[in-house]
Amino acid sequence: MTIKLVEEKALMGQDRRRAERRLDFGHAWDYAPAPEGTDHVRLASRYDLFIDGRFEPPGAGRYFETINPATEARLAEVADADERDVDRAVAAARRAYDQVWARMAPLERGKYIYRIARVIQERARELAVVESLDGGKPIKESRDFDVPTAAAHFFYYAGWADKLRYAFPGHAVRPLGVAGQVIPWNFPLLMAAWKIAPALACGNTVVLKPAETTPLTALLLAEIIQEADLPPGVVNIITGAGKTGAALVGHPGVDKVAFTGSTAVGKHIQRALAGTGKRMTMELGGKAANIVFADAPIDQAVEGVISGIFFNQGHVCCAGSRLLLEEGVHDTFVRKLRDRMATLRVGDPLDKNTDVGAINSKMQLEKIRELVASGEEEGAERFSAPCELPERGYFFAPTIFTGVAQSHRIAREEIFGPVLSVLTFRTDAEAVEKANNTFYGLSAGVWSNKGARLFKMASQLEAGVVWGNTYNKFDPSSPFGGYKESGFGREGGRQGLAAYLVVE
Ligand code: NAP
Ligand code: MG
Repeated sequence: MTIKLVEEKALMGQDRRRAERRLDFGHAWDYAPAPEGTDHVRLASRYDLFIDGRFEPPGAGRYFETINPATEARLAEVADADERDVDRAVAAARRAYDQVWARMAPLERGKYIYRIARVIQERARELAVVESLDGGKPIKESRDFDVPTAAAHFFYYAGWADKLRYAFPGHAVRPLGVAGQVIPWNFPLLMAAWKIAPALACGNTVVLKPAETTPLTALLLAEIIQEADLPPGVVNIITGAGKTGAALVGHPGVDKVAFTGSTAVGKHIQRALAGTGKRMTMELGGKAANIVFADAPIDQAVEGVISGIFFNQGHVCCAGSRLLLEEGVHDTFVRKLRDRMATLRVGDPLDKNTDVGAINSKMQLEKIRELVASGEEEGAERFSAPCELPERGYFFAPTIFTGVAQSHRIAREEIFGPVLSVLTFRTDAEAVEKANNTFYGLSAGVWSNKGARLFKMASQLEAGVVWGNTYNKFDPSSPFGGYKESGFGREGGRQGLAAYLVVE
Protein backbone atom coordinates (compact mmCIF):
# COMPACT_ATOMS: atom_id res chain seq x y z
CA MET A 1 0.00 0.00 0.00
CA THR A 2 1.37 3.41 -0.92
CA ILE A 3 0.74 6.16 1.54
CA LYS A 4 2.22 9.51 0.77
CA LEU A 5 2.06 12.95 2.18
CA VAL A 6 0.65 14.87 -0.74
CA GLU A 7 1.87 18.36 -1.34
CA GLU A 8 -1.04 20.62 -1.98
CA LYS A 9 0.37 22.12 -5.17
CA ALA A 10 0.85 18.68 -6.70
CA LEU A 11 -2.80 17.83 -6.40
CA MET A 12 -5.31 18.10 -9.16
CA GLY A 13 -9.11 18.03 -9.37
CA GLN A 14 -10.93 15.83 -6.90
CA ASP A 15 -7.77 15.00 -4.95
CA ARG A 16 -7.02 18.66 -4.46
CA ARG A 17 -10.51 19.53 -3.28
CA ARG A 18 -10.52 16.50 -1.03
CA ALA A 19 -7.20 17.57 0.49
CA GLU A 20 -8.49 21.09 1.08
CA ARG A 21 -11.45 19.76 2.95
CA ARG A 22 -9.21 17.46 4.94
CA LEU A 23 -6.99 20.41 5.86
CA ASP A 24 -10.13 22.17 7.15
CA PHE A 25 -10.51 19.22 9.46
CA GLY A 26 -6.81 19.21 10.36
CA HIS A 27 -5.78 16.24 8.19
CA ALA A 28 -2.95 16.51 5.67
CA TRP A 29 -2.57 12.88 4.63
CA ASP A 30 -4.00 11.30 1.56
CA TYR A 31 -3.65 7.96 -0.19
CA ALA A 32 -2.64 7.30 -3.76
CA PRO A 33 -5.21 5.24 -5.72
CA ALA A 34 -4.65 1.51 -5.19
CA PRO A 35 -7.07 -0.39 -7.41
CA GLU A 36 -7.30 -4.15 -6.98
CA GLY A 37 -6.42 -6.06 -10.16
CA THR A 38 -9.26 -7.75 -12.00
CA ASP A 39 -7.28 -9.65 -14.66
CA HIS A 40 -7.76 -12.93 -12.82
CA VAL A 41 -11.55 -12.66 -12.94
CA ARG A 42 -13.50 -14.11 -15.87
CA LEU A 43 -17.22 -13.56 -15.62
CA ALA A 44 -19.47 -15.39 -18.05
CA SER A 45 -21.94 -13.24 -19.93
CA ARG A 46 -24.78 -15.53 -18.81
CA TYR A 47 -25.34 -17.82 -15.79
CA ASP A 48 -27.81 -20.69 -15.63
CA LEU A 49 -29.40 -22.46 -12.69
CA PHE A 50 -27.34 -24.98 -10.72
CA ILE A 51 -29.60 -27.99 -10.39
CA ASP A 52 -28.62 -31.62 -9.80
CA GLY A 53 -24.92 -30.87 -10.21
CA ARG A 54 -25.26 -29.18 -13.62
CA PHE A 55 -25.86 -25.68 -14.92
CA GLU A 56 -29.21 -25.73 -16.70
CA PRO A 57 -31.18 -23.00 -18.47
CA PRO A 58 -34.42 -21.89 -16.81
CA GLY A 59 -37.52 -23.62 -18.21
CA ALA A 60 -39.12 -20.37 -19.36
CA GLY A 61 -35.83 -19.09 -20.83
CA ARG A 62 -36.00 -15.81 -18.90
CA TYR A 63 -32.91 -13.99 -17.62
CA PHE A 64 -32.30 -10.75 -15.71
CA GLU A 65 -29.27 -8.49 -15.40
CA THR A 66 -27.02 -7.98 -12.44
CA ILE A 67 -25.12 -4.70 -12.43
CA ASN A 68 -22.15 -3.17 -10.67
CA PRO A 69 -23.74 -0.56 -8.37
CA ALA A 70 -20.52 1.51 -8.38
CA THR A 71 -20.66 2.09 -12.15
CA GLU A 72 -24.18 0.98 -13.12
CA ALA A 73 -22.51 -1.23 -15.76
CA ARG A 74 -24.02 -4.62 -16.53
CA LEU A 75 -21.94 -7.52 -15.24
CA ALA A 76 -23.84 -10.58 -16.45
CA GLU A 77 -27.22 -12.04 -17.19
CA VAL A 78 -28.65 -14.48 -14.66
CA ALA A 79 -31.43 -17.07 -14.93
CA ASP A 80 -34.85 -16.18 -13.55
CA ALA A 81 -36.20 -19.36 -11.96
CA ASP A 82 -39.93 -19.93 -11.96
CA GLU A 83 -42.04 -22.44 -10.03
CA ARG A 84 -41.18 -25.33 -12.35
CA ASP A 85 -37.47 -24.66 -11.91
CA VAL A 86 -37.95 -24.54 -8.13
CA ASP A 87 -39.77 -27.84 -8.40
CA ARG A 88 -36.87 -29.43 -10.33
CA ALA A 89 -34.35 -28.14 -7.79
CA VAL A 90 -36.35 -29.42 -4.82
CA ALA A 91 -36.83 -32.80 -6.51
CA ALA A 92 -33.06 -33.05 -7.11
CA ALA A 93 -32.38 -32.16 -3.48
CA ARG A 94 -34.89 -34.79 -2.31
CA ARG A 95 -33.30 -37.52 -4.45
CA ALA A 96 -29.84 -36.61 -3.23
CA TYR A 97 -31.08 -36.63 0.35
CA ASP A 98 -32.80 -40.02 0.11
CA GLN A 99 -30.25 -41.81 -2.02
CA VAL A 100 -26.89 -40.36 -1.08
CA TRP A 101 -26.32 -37.63 1.45
CA ALA A 102 -28.35 -38.72 4.48
CA ARG A 103 -26.99 -42.27 4.06
CA MET A 104 -23.35 -41.28 3.70
CA ALA A 105 -21.00 -41.87 6.62
CA PRO A 106 -20.73 -38.52 8.46
CA LEU A 107 -16.94 -38.58 8.23
CA GLU A 108 -17.23 -38.70 4.42
CA ARG A 109 -19.71 -35.79 4.40
CA GLY A 110 -17.21 -33.82 6.42
CA LYS A 111 -14.52 -34.38 3.79
CA TYR A 112 -16.68 -32.84 1.06
CA ILE A 113 -17.42 -29.78 3.21
CA TYR A 114 -13.74 -29.45 4.01
CA ARG A 115 -12.98 -29.54 0.29
CA ILE A 116 -15.42 -26.68 -0.36
CA ALA A 117 -13.57 -24.62 2.27
CA ARG A 118 -10.22 -25.31 0.58
CA VAL A 119 -11.45 -24.37 -2.88
CA ILE A 120 -12.92 -21.12 -1.49
CA GLN A 121 -9.46 -20.34 -0.15
CA GLU A 122 -7.87 -21.17 -3.50
CA ARG A 123 -10.30 -18.89 -5.34
CA ALA A 124 -10.36 -16.21 -2.63
CA ARG A 125 -9.03 -13.34 -4.75
CA GLU A 126 -11.55 -13.99 -7.49
CA LEU A 127 -14.44 -14.31 -5.03
CA ALA A 128 -13.47 -11.06 -3.28
CA VAL A 129 -13.34 -9.08 -6.52
CA VAL A 130 -16.66 -10.48 -7.75
CA GLU A 131 -18.30 -9.76 -4.38
CA SER A 132 -17.18 -6.13 -4.60
CA LEU A 133 -18.17 -5.80 -8.26
CA ASP A 134 -21.64 -7.24 -7.83
CA GLY A 135 -22.56 -5.74 -4.45
CA GLY A 136 -20.50 -2.54 -4.11
CA LYS A 137 -18.69 -3.38 -0.89
CA PRO A 138 -15.07 -2.25 -0.44
CA ILE A 139 -12.51 -4.82 -1.53
CA LYS A 140 -10.80 -4.69 1.86
CA GLU A 141 -14.07 -5.92 3.40
CA SER A 142 -14.71 -8.70 0.91
CA ARG A 143 -11.03 -9.72 0.84
CA ASP A 144 -10.35 -9.56 4.59
CA PHE A 145 -13.74 -10.44 6.05
CA ASP A 146 -16.39 -11.94 3.77
CA VAL A 147 -14.35 -14.52 1.89
CA PRO A 148 -12.09 -15.77 4.74
CA THR A 149 -15.08 -15.92 7.12
CA ALA A 150 -17.08 -17.89 4.53
CA ALA A 151 -14.21 -20.41 4.24
CA ALA A 152 -13.95 -20.50 8.05
CA HIS A 153 -17.63 -21.50 8.30
CA PHE A 154 -17.14 -24.45 5.97
CA PHE A 155 -14.00 -25.52 7.89
CA TYR A 156 -15.80 -25.20 11.21
CA TYR A 157 -18.88 -27.20 10.22
CA ALA A 158 -16.80 -29.80 8.35
CA GLY A 159 -15.37 -30.60 11.77
CA TRP A 160 -18.81 -31.14 13.31
CA ALA A 161 -20.11 -33.55 10.63
CA ASP A 162 -18.92 -36.71 12.39
CA LYS A 163 -19.32 -35.37 15.95
CA LEU A 164 -23.00 -34.48 16.00
CA ARG A 165 -23.82 -36.86 18.82
CA TYR A 166 -21.31 -35.01 21.00
CA ALA A 167 -23.02 -31.71 20.21
CA PHE A 168 -26.16 -32.84 22.02
CA PRO A 169 -24.99 -35.38 24.63
CA GLY A 170 -27.58 -37.95 25.61
CA HIS A 171 -29.77 -37.22 22.57
CA ALA A 172 -30.17 -38.95 19.25
CA VAL A 173 -30.03 -36.61 16.27
CA ARG A 174 -31.11 -36.87 12.65
CA PRO A 175 -31.29 -34.48 9.69
CA LEU A 176 -34.47 -32.69 8.67
CA GLY A 177 -34.45 -33.33 4.91
CA VAL A 178 -34.45 -30.61 2.24
CA ALA A 179 -33.61 -27.07 3.35
CA GLY A 180 -34.93 -24.09 1.33
CA GLN A 181 -32.64 -21.16 2.01
CA VAL A 182 -33.13 -17.52 1.01
CA ILE A 183 -30.45 -14.89 1.58
CA PRO A 184 -30.03 -11.09 1.22
CA TRP A 185 -27.57 -8.91 -0.69
CA ASN A 186 -25.37 -7.52 2.04
CA PHE A 187 -23.09 -10.55 2.61
CA PRO A 188 -23.90 -12.75 -0.38
CA LEU A 189 -21.13 -15.36 -0.13
CA LEU A 190 -20.92 -15.32 3.64
CA MET A 191 -24.69 -15.76 4.07
CA ALA A 192 -24.56 -18.68 1.63
CA ALA A 193 -21.80 -20.23 3.76
CA TRP A 194 -23.73 -19.61 7.00
CA LYS A 195 -26.67 -21.47 5.53
CA ILE A 196 -25.11 -24.27 3.47
CA ALA A 197 -22.28 -25.40 5.78
CA PRO A 198 -24.35 -26.42 8.86
CA ALA A 199 -27.14 -27.86 6.69
CA LEU A 200 -24.70 -30.19 4.91
CA ALA A 201 -22.83 -31.13 8.08
CA CYS A 202 -26.10 -32.29 9.62
CA GLY A 203 -26.96 -34.44 6.58
CA ASN A 204 -29.54 -32.20 4.88
CA THR A 205 -29.59 -31.22 1.23
CA VAL A 206 -30.11 -27.65 0.06
CA VAL A 207 -31.81 -25.36 -2.43
CA LEU A 208 -30.47 -21.81 -2.01
CA LYS A 209 -31.71 -18.57 -3.54
CA PRO A 210 -29.38 -15.55 -3.44
CA ALA A 211 -30.67 -11.98 -3.74
CA GLU A 212 -31.53 -10.59 -7.15
CA THR A 213 -28.87 -7.85 -7.02
CA THR A 214 -25.99 -10.08 -5.86
CA PRO A 215 -26.24 -13.56 -7.37
CA LEU A 216 -22.71 -13.92 -8.74
CA THR A 217 -20.67 -15.22 -5.80
CA ALA A 218 -23.36 -17.81 -5.04
CA LEU A 219 -23.00 -18.97 -8.67
CA LEU A 220 -19.21 -19.12 -8.28
CA LEU A 221 -19.87 -21.15 -5.14
CA ALA A 222 -21.91 -23.52 -7.34
CA GLU A 223 -18.81 -23.94 -9.53
CA ILE A 224 -16.76 -24.59 -6.40
CA ILE A 225 -19.26 -27.21 -5.28
CA GLN A 226 -18.88 -28.90 -8.68
CA GLU A 227 -15.11 -28.70 -8.33
CA ALA A 228 -15.34 -30.25 -4.85
CA ASP A 229 -17.22 -33.10 -6.54
CA LEU A 230 -20.25 -33.05 -4.27
CA PRO A 231 -22.81 -35.65 -5.29
CA PRO A 232 -25.35 -34.07 -7.71
CA GLY A 233 -28.38 -32.48 -6.05
CA VAL A 234 -26.84 -32.08 -2.58
CA VAL A 235 -26.61 -28.31 -3.18
CA ASN A 236 -28.77 -26.54 -5.76
CA ILE A 237 -28.54 -22.81 -6.40
CA ILE A 238 -31.38 -21.04 -8.15
CA THR A 239 -31.50 -17.35 -8.98
CA GLY A 240 -34.47 -15.06 -9.28
CA ALA A 241 -36.34 -12.31 -7.46
CA GLY A 242 -38.76 -12.40 -4.52
CA LYS A 243 -41.23 -14.59 -6.42
CA THR A 244 -38.61 -17.33 -6.76
CA GLY A 245 -37.93 -17.09 -3.02
CA ALA A 246 -41.64 -17.33 -2.25
CA ALA A 247 -42.00 -20.41 -4.51
CA LEU A 248 -39.03 -22.04 -2.77
CA VAL A 249 -40.10 -21.49 0.84
CA GLY A 250 -43.69 -22.46 -0.02
CA HIS A 251 -42.74 -25.64 -1.88
CA PRO A 252 -44.30 -28.68 -0.14
CA GLY A 253 -41.08 -30.68 -0.64
CA VAL A 254 -39.09 -28.30 1.57
CA ASP A 255 -38.78 -29.46 5.19
CA LYS A 256 -36.92 -26.53 6.62
CA VAL A 257 -36.87 -22.83 5.71
CA ALA A 258 -33.86 -20.71 6.58
CA PHE A 259 -34.42 -17.06 5.75
CA THR A 260 -32.21 -14.01 6.19
CA GLY A 261 -33.64 -10.71 5.11
CA SER A 262 -36.01 -7.96 6.11
CA THR A 263 -38.49 -8.26 8.96
CA ALA A 264 -41.37 -7.47 6.57
CA VAL A 265 -40.58 -10.40 4.27
CA GLY A 266 -39.78 -12.63 7.27
CA LYS A 267 -43.23 -11.96 8.71
CA HIS A 268 -44.84 -12.60 5.35
CA ILE A 269 -43.11 -16.00 5.10
CA GLN A 270 -44.14 -16.91 8.65
CA ARG A 271 -47.77 -16.11 7.84
CA ALA A 272 -47.62 -18.05 4.57
CA LEU A 273 -46.12 -21.12 6.25
CA ALA A 274 -48.23 -21.14 9.41
CA GLY A 275 -49.64 -24.61 9.97
CA THR A 276 -47.42 -26.38 7.43
CA GLY A 277 -45.19 -27.89 10.12
CA LYS A 278 -42.05 -26.71 8.32
CA ARG A 279 -39.15 -25.87 10.56
CA MET A 280 -38.02 -22.23 10.28
CA THR A 281 -35.20 -19.96 11.27
CA MET A 282 -35.48 -16.23 10.67
CA GLU A 283 -32.58 -13.78 10.71
CA LEU A 284 -34.18 -10.40 10.23
CA GLY A 285 -33.55 -6.68 10.59
CA GLY A 286 -31.93 -4.67 13.37
CA LYS A 287 -31.59 -1.23 14.95
CA ALA A 288 -28.62 -1.78 17.23
CA ALA A 289 -27.51 0.66 19.91
CA ASN A 290 -23.87 1.38 20.55
CA ILE A 291 -23.73 2.63 24.16
CA VAL A 292 -20.73 4.76 25.14
CA PHE A 293 -20.10 5.62 28.79
CA ALA A 294 -17.95 8.59 29.77
CA ASP A 295 -15.33 6.24 31.26
CA ALA A 296 -14.87 4.41 27.92
CA PRO A 297 -11.61 4.46 25.96
CA ILE A 298 -12.94 7.27 23.78
CA ASP A 299 -10.68 7.01 20.74
CA GLN A 300 -11.22 3.27 20.44
CA ALA A 301 -14.95 3.82 20.86
CA VAL A 302 -14.96 6.43 18.06
CA GLU A 303 -13.23 3.92 15.78
CA GLY A 304 -15.64 1.16 16.80
CA VAL A 305 -18.69 3.33 16.22
CA ILE A 306 -17.34 4.47 12.82
CA SER A 307 -16.62 0.94 11.62
CA GLY A 308 -19.90 -0.32 13.11
CA ILE A 309 -22.03 1.96 10.94
CA PHE A 310 -20.01 3.27 8.01
CA PHE A 311 -17.89 0.37 6.81
CA ASN A 312 -19.79 -1.74 4.32
CA GLN A 313 -22.05 1.33 3.80
CA GLY A 314 -24.14 0.44 6.85
CA HIS A 315 -25.44 -2.58 4.91
CA VAL A 316 -25.14 -4.71 8.00
CA CYS A 317 -28.11 -6.15 9.87
CA CYS A 318 -26.28 -5.63 13.16
CA ALA A 319 -24.92 -2.15 12.23
CA GLY A 320 -24.67 0.15 15.24
CA SER A 321 -27.16 2.60 13.76
CA ARG A 322 -28.08 4.25 17.06
CA LEU A 323 -25.37 5.80 19.20
CA LEU A 324 -26.25 6.36 22.86
CA LEU A 325 -23.76 8.74 24.47
CA GLU A 326 -23.51 9.46 28.18
CA GLU A 327 -24.35 13.15 28.37
CA GLY A 328 -20.97 14.36 29.67
CA VAL A 329 -19.06 12.88 26.75
CA HIS A 330 -21.47 13.94 24.00
CA ASP A 331 -19.75 17.06 22.67
CA THR A 332 -16.23 15.63 22.66
CA PHE A 333 -17.41 12.39 21.10
CA VAL A 334 -19.41 14.04 18.34
CA ARG A 335 -16.46 16.33 17.50
CA LYS A 336 -14.13 13.34 17.24
CA LEU A 337 -16.68 11.43 15.16
CA ARG A 338 -16.97 14.30 12.68
CA ASP A 339 -13.18 14.57 12.42
CA ARG A 340 -12.90 10.87 11.72
CA MET A 341 -15.77 10.95 9.24
CA ALA A 342 -13.90 13.58 7.25
CA THR A 343 -11.08 11.11 6.68
CA LEU A 344 -13.29 8.24 5.45
CA ARG A 345 -12.66 7.41 1.83
CA VAL A 346 -15.89 6.99 -0.10
CA GLY A 347 -15.77 5.69 -3.65
CA ASP A 348 -14.49 2.90 -5.86
CA PRO A 349 -15.15 -0.40 -4.06
CA LEU A 350 -12.18 -1.97 -5.83
CA ASP A 351 -9.72 0.58 -4.39
CA LYS A 352 -7.87 -1.07 -1.51
CA ASN A 353 -8.10 2.13 0.55
CA THR A 354 -11.84 2.64 0.19
CA ASP A 355 -13.73 2.57 3.49
CA VAL A 356 -17.25 3.19 2.19
CA GLY A 357 -18.20 1.69 -1.17
CA ALA A 358 -21.38 1.82 -3.25
CA ILE A 359 -24.94 1.50 -2.00
CA ASN A 360 -26.19 -1.85 -3.25
CA SER A 361 -29.00 -0.64 -5.50
CA LYS A 362 -30.86 2.43 -6.67
CA MET A 363 -33.87 1.32 -4.64
CA GLN A 364 -31.80 1.11 -1.48
CA LEU A 365 -30.26 4.54 -2.17
CA GLU A 366 -33.73 6.04 -2.52
CA LYS A 367 -34.81 4.44 0.75
CA ILE A 368 -31.79 5.94 2.54
CA ARG A 369 -32.44 9.39 1.03
CA GLU A 370 -36.08 9.27 2.07
CA LEU A 371 -35.25 8.37 5.67
CA VAL A 372 -32.51 11.00 5.86
CA ALA A 373 -34.98 13.63 4.60
CA SER A 374 -37.41 12.54 7.33
CA GLY A 375 -34.67 13.09 9.93
CA GLU A 376 -34.22 16.67 8.75
CA GLU A 377 -37.97 17.29 8.61
CA GLU A 378 -38.46 15.93 12.11
CA GLY A 379 -35.88 18.37 13.45
CA ALA A 380 -32.65 16.42 13.98
CA GLU A 381 -29.37 18.09 13.02
CA ARG A 382 -27.58 16.51 10.05
CA PHE A 383 -23.86 16.34 9.38
CA SER A 384 -22.60 14.54 6.28
CA ALA A 385 -18.93 13.81 5.67
CA PRO A 386 -17.39 16.38 3.35
CA CYS A 387 -16.57 13.99 0.54
CA GLU A 388 -17.02 14.16 -3.18
CA LEU A 389 -19.16 11.31 -4.46
CA PRO A 390 -18.46 9.68 -7.83
CA GLU A 391 -20.74 10.93 -10.58
CA ARG A 392 -21.93 7.51 -11.68
CA GLY A 393 -23.12 4.74 -9.43
CA TYR A 394 -25.03 4.73 -6.16
CA PHE A 395 -23.22 6.47 -3.33
CA PHE A 396 -24.19 8.17 -0.09
CA ALA A 397 -21.93 10.24 2.15
CA PRO A 398 -21.53 8.99 5.74
CA THR A 399 -24.03 10.95 7.79
CA ILE A 400 -24.78 11.53 11.46
CA PHE A 401 -27.79 13.09 13.08
CA THR A 402 -27.55 14.75 16.50
CA GLY A 403 -30.45 15.97 18.60
CA VAL A 404 -32.40 12.83 17.74
CA ALA A 405 -35.55 11.97 19.73
CA GLN A 406 -36.62 8.38 20.27
CA SER A 407 -39.81 9.07 18.34
CA HIS A 408 -37.97 10.12 15.14
CA ARG A 409 -38.17 7.66 12.29
CA ILE A 410 -34.37 7.67 12.00
CA ALA A 411 -34.23 6.35 15.57
CA ARG A 412 -36.86 3.65 15.02
CA GLU A 413 -36.60 2.35 11.46
CA GLU A 414 -33.80 0.31 9.98
CA ILE A 415 -32.06 2.57 7.44
CA PHE A 416 -29.55 -0.02 6.20
CA GLY A 417 -27.21 2.73 5.05
CA PRO A 418 -24.29 4.82 6.37
CA VAL A 419 -26.47 6.91 8.68
CA LEU A 420 -26.04 7.20 12.44
CA SER A 421 -28.56 8.64 14.92
CA VAL A 422 -27.10 10.06 18.14
CA LEU A 423 -29.07 10.11 21.41
CA THR A 424 -27.94 10.73 24.99
CA PHE A 425 -28.50 9.20 28.44
CA ARG A 426 -27.61 9.99 32.05
CA THR A 427 -27.80 6.67 33.92
CA ASP A 428 -27.19 3.00 33.17
CA ALA A 429 -30.91 2.31 33.57
CA GLU A 430 -31.81 5.02 31.05
CA ALA A 431 -29.26 3.60 28.58
CA VAL A 432 -30.81 0.14 28.87
CA GLU A 433 -34.32 1.49 28.52
CA LYS A 434 -33.47 3.51 25.40
CA ALA A 435 -31.43 0.71 23.83
CA ASN A 436 -34.30 -1.74 24.34
CA ASN A 437 -36.91 0.71 23.09
CA THR A 438 -37.16 -0.89 19.66
CA PHE A 439 -39.01 -3.74 17.99
CA TYR A 440 -35.66 -5.18 16.99
CA GLY A 441 -33.13 -7.07 19.11
CA LEU A 442 -30.24 -8.29 17.02
CA SER A 443 -27.13 -6.75 18.53
CA ALA A 444 -25.69 -4.01 20.76
CA GLY A 445 -22.33 -2.58 21.80
CA VAL A 446 -21.20 -1.29 25.19
CA TRP A 447 -18.10 0.82 25.73
CA SER A 448 -16.79 1.31 29.29
CA ASN A 449 -13.59 0.70 31.22
CA LYS A 450 -15.53 -1.27 33.87
CA GLY A 451 -15.84 -4.97 33.13
CA ALA A 452 -18.66 -5.36 35.66
CA ARG A 453 -20.68 -2.70 33.85
CA LEU A 454 -20.19 -4.46 30.50
CA PHE A 455 -21.52 -7.73 31.91
CA LYS A 456 -24.40 -6.08 33.74
CA MET A 457 -25.47 -4.18 30.63
CA ALA A 458 -25.13 -7.32 28.49
CA SER A 459 -27.52 -9.17 30.78
CA GLN A 460 -30.12 -6.40 30.52
CA LEU A 461 -29.96 -5.66 26.81
CA GLU A 462 -32.51 -7.45 24.65
CA ALA A 463 -30.10 -8.34 21.87
CA GLY A 464 -28.80 -11.61 20.49
CA VAL A 465 -25.20 -10.37 20.46
CA VAL A 466 -23.63 -7.80 22.77
CA TRP A 467 -20.09 -6.66 22.02
CA GLY A 468 -17.98 -5.13 24.80
CA ASN A 469 -15.41 -2.48 23.81
CA THR A 470 -15.50 -3.72 20.23
CA TYR A 471 -18.06 -4.11 17.47
CA ASN A 472 -19.01 -6.41 14.59
CA LYS A 473 -16.70 -9.26 15.49
CA PHE A 474 -17.64 -12.68 14.13
CA ASP A 475 -16.43 -16.20 14.51
CA PRO A 476 -17.97 -19.43 13.20
CA SER A 477 -17.94 -20.90 16.69
CA SER A 478 -20.12 -18.20 18.26
CA PRO A 479 -23.86 -18.24 17.64
CA PHE A 480 -25.64 -15.27 16.06
CA GLY A 481 -29.34 -14.42 15.95
CA GLY A 482 -32.07 -12.12 17.15
CA TYR A 483 -34.64 -11.34 19.80
CA LYS A 484 -38.08 -9.84 19.17
CA GLU A 485 -38.65 -8.84 15.54
CA SER A 486 -35.03 -9.54 14.62
CA GLY A 487 -35.99 -13.16 14.28
CA PHE A 488 -35.48 -16.52 15.94
CA GLY A 489 -33.06 -19.41 15.74
CA ARG A 490 -29.28 -19.19 15.84
CA GLU A 491 -26.63 -19.50 13.16
CA GLY A 492 -23.05 -20.38 13.95
CA GLY A 493 -21.56 -22.49 16.70
CA ARG A 494 -23.00 -25.63 18.18
CA GLN A 495 -26.37 -23.84 18.45
CA GLY A 496 -26.38 -23.45 14.65
CA LEU A 497 -26.51 -27.25 14.31
CA ALA A 498 -29.79 -27.44 16.21
CA ALA A 499 -31.50 -25.52 13.41
CA TYR A 500 -30.80 -28.41 11.00
CA LEU A 501 -31.47 -31.42 13.20
CA VAL A 502 -34.23 -33.27 14.94
CA VAL A 503 -32.84 -33.63 18.47
CA GLU A 504 -34.65 -36.47 20.27
P1 NAP B 1 -35.46 -8.79 1.68
O1 NAP B 1 -36.09 -7.85 0.74
O2 NAP B 1 -36.28 -9.35 2.77
O3 NAP B 1 -34.86 -9.97 0.79
C1 NAP B 1 -34.16 -11.05 1.32
C2 NAP B 1 -34.26 -12.22 0.38
O4 NAP B 1 -35.62 -12.66 0.32
C3 NAP B 1 -33.88 -11.89 -1.06
O5 NAP B 1 -33.26 -13.02 -1.62
C4 NAP B 1 -35.22 -11.63 -1.68
O6 NAP B 1 -35.21 -11.75 -3.06
C5 NAP B 1 -36.07 -12.67 -1.02
N1 NAP B 1 -37.50 -12.41 -1.00
C6 NAP B 1 -38.18 -11.26 -1.24
N2 NAP B 1 -39.51 -11.46 -1.10
C7 NAP B 1 -39.68 -12.75 -0.76
C8 NAP B 1 -40.83 -13.56 -0.45
N3 NAP B 1 -42.06 -13.07 -0.46
N4 NAP B 1 -40.63 -14.85 -0.12
C9 NAP B 1 -39.39 -15.37 -0.08
N5 NAP B 1 -38.27 -14.67 -0.36
C10 NAP B 1 -38.42 -13.37 -0.69
O7 NAP B 1 -34.21 -8.17 2.37
P2 NAP B 1 -33.01 -7.42 1.67
O8 NAP B 1 -33.45 -6.02 1.46
O9 NAP B 1 -32.49 -8.20 0.54
O10 NAP B 1 -31.90 -7.50 2.82
C11 NAP B 1 -31.79 -6.57 3.82
C12 NAP B 1 -32.44 -7.05 5.09
O11 NAP B 1 -31.83 -8.25 5.53
C13 NAP B 1 -32.26 -6.07 6.21
O12 NAP B 1 -33.47 -5.90 6.90
C14 NAP B 1 -31.24 -6.74 7.11
O13 NAP B 1 -31.28 -6.34 8.44
C15 NAP B 1 -31.55 -8.16 6.91
N6 NAP B 1 -30.42 -9.00 7.26
C16 NAP B 1 -30.48 -9.72 8.43
C17 NAP B 1 -29.41 -10.52 8.81
C18 NAP B 1 -29.45 -11.30 10.08
O14 NAP B 1 -28.63 -12.19 10.25
N7 NAP B 1 -30.36 -11.05 10.98
C19 NAP B 1 -28.28 -10.60 8.00
C20 NAP B 1 -28.25 -9.86 6.82
C21 NAP B 1 -29.34 -9.08 6.47
P3 NAP B 1 -34.84 -10.45 -3.94
O15 NAP B 1 -33.61 -9.86 -3.37
O16 NAP B 1 -34.56 -10.95 -5.27
O17 NAP B 1 -36.01 -9.56 -3.82
MG1 MG C 1 -25.27 -6.63 -8.68
